[in-house]
Amino acid sequence: MLKNYMEILVDEVYNEVKNQYEVCQYDNCTDDIKAIALNALPPAYFPSYVDEGERKSFLLNRQMKITALAKITEAAQIVAQRCKG
Ligand SMILES: [Zn+2]
Repeated sequence: MLKNYMEILVDEVYNEVKNQYEVCQYDNCTDDIKAIALNALPPAYFPSYVDEGERKSFLLNRQMKITALAKITEAAQIVAQRCKG
């Protein structure tokens, strides 16, 4: 099963920060934030020969997390302006 590891990373980072920011907790807004952030980030697919350790290290990469967080923050601001909740 092919997975976009950037999507997993965005999910993880979002879960870490969602309580620190006043971002809407409604399902639509959460999905919108992730969608906008993911459109601004490069996808990350690993071929089958890339081992689990390398996949894990992508998800733990500090610089990658900071980049994802920056895009999530931008996306949250955009979504907050449109939020009707
Ligand atoms: Zn909302």
